[in-house]
Amino acid sequence: MNTTGWSRGLEVTADGEGIVSHAGLALLRHLTDKTGLTAGLSRALASARLLIHDRGRVTSDLACAIADGAEVISDFRVMSDQGELFGPVASVPTAWRTLDEIAAGGERALGRVTSAVNTARRQAWAGIEARHGALPGIRIADRTLQGVTCIRLDATVTQAHSDKELAEPDFKGFGHHPLLSYCDNTGEPLAGMLRKGSAGSNTTADHVKMADAAIAALPPAFRRRLMVTCDGAGASHGLIAHLDKLAARRGYQLIYSVGWELGEREKRAIRQVPEAAWQIAIDTRGEVRERRADGACGDLQCGHRKCWIEEAHVSELTGLLRQGPEGDRLAGWPASMRVFARRERPHPGAQLTLFEAEDGYRYSLWVTNLPVTLRGWRANPAYVDAAHRVHARVEDGILLPAS
Ligand SMILES: [Zn+2]
Repeated sequence: MNTTGWSRGLEVTADGEGIVSHAGLALLRHLTDKTGLTAGLSRALASARLLIHDRGRVTSDLACAIADGAEVISDFRVMSDQGELFGPVASVPTAWRTLDEIAAGGERALGRVTSAVNTARRQAWAGIEARHGALPGIRIADRTLQGVTCIRLDATVTQAHSDKELAEPDFKGFGHHPLLSYCDNTGEPLAGMLRKGSAGSNTTADHVKMADAAIAALPPAFRRRLMVTCDGAGASHGLIAHLDKLAARRGYQLIYSVGWELGEREKRAIRQVPEAAWQIAIDTRGEVRERRADGACGDLQCGHRKCWIEEAHVSELTGLLRQGPEGDRLAGWPASMRVFARRERPHPGAQLTLFEAEDGYRYSLWVTNLPVTLRGWRANPAYVDAAHRVHARVEDGILLPAS
C-alpha cells in the first residue's frame, strides 16, 4: 500500500463544503513524508503479517497528533476523523495496537525506530542548511553563538494522575522522572529515557547514556562542535570524566556546563570572594538585572543609585578552590574544569537556608571546561553564566512549539 500518496493532487481552496478542522495537520503530515520519517518508520516496523494500516504511517500520524496537542491516545481522533483529507487513517484502537507491538519488540524495535527518526532528522537539517545556510545559532543573552550545536540534558519530574507503568512516589508527589535531551538550536527533543518516579536526579550512568544518545541523534556533520549543558547539581565524576574524554578527541570541540553541588568547601570559597570580584549578571537581553529597592522614590525610571538593587552576580571560584592554603581542593577532577557561582536575591518571602541567610543571597554553582585562554564576549563571566542557563529557553520552547 502506498503510505505517502495521500497528498498527491492536494489543493487548498476556500470554497469547499464542510469544515476541515486542524488543517495545519496536513502540512505537518506532509513534512513527515518529505523528511522520509514515514517511509523510515515503515521499514523499521515492517511485519510479515498482512496489515491494513502500515505501522510507519500510524506512528508518524501519532507524532502529528502529539504535535497538534494530543495528550492521550484517544486524542488520535484528530487524525482518524480526517478521512476526507488524509484517506484511510488508523482508528484509535489501531494506534494502541501499534504502540503495543513496538513495546513488545523491546530494545531492538526501539533501536530501529530511533534510527529512522535520526535519519529523518539528517534530512530535515540538510533542508534547513540548504534554505538558511546554517542551523540557527545558540542564543546566549543578547549574543548568538554560530556553528555550535547545543545539547541540553534535563531530568524532569512529571506528575501521573493515575496508576501508570513505572509511576512511583517522588519528591513532588507521584509520577515519573524521565531524563530528556533537547537541541537548543532547533528546540527539538533528541532522546529520552523514561524512568521510575524514584530515579535520582544525578544518576551518572543515566546521564552518560543520555549524552551519548543525544550526540548519536545529531547528523554527523553537527557533532564536531558541541555545547552540552545540564542543570541541577548534575556534576558527578563519571559524567564529567565522560564529557572530558569526548572533548579531548582530535578534531572535536565540546564545551560542557554542568550544575555543581554547593558543599562546605564551596561555601568556604564563596565567603572568601572579595565583593569587587562579583560581576553583575545579565538577562536574556544582555542587560543587567536590577529591581526597585524598598523605599525607592516615586519615579520608576529614576537614575538614583540607592533606588535600584542589582539582583544577580557571577564569580569564578576556581582559583580559590585550586590554589588556596589547603592546596588543590579539586584534585581528582580534570585540570580543565572551572567552577563558577551565581548569586541572586531570592523572591521576597522565600525560605533561606542558614548559609543564604548570612548575606541574603541564594547561590547556584556549575562547572565548565571553557578554555581559560578564550578571549572575547564568550569568556566574560556574565556570558559564561548566561550560557549555563540556556535551558530556561528550551523549556519555554516545549510549551510553545508554534514559534
Ligand atoms: Zn529614585
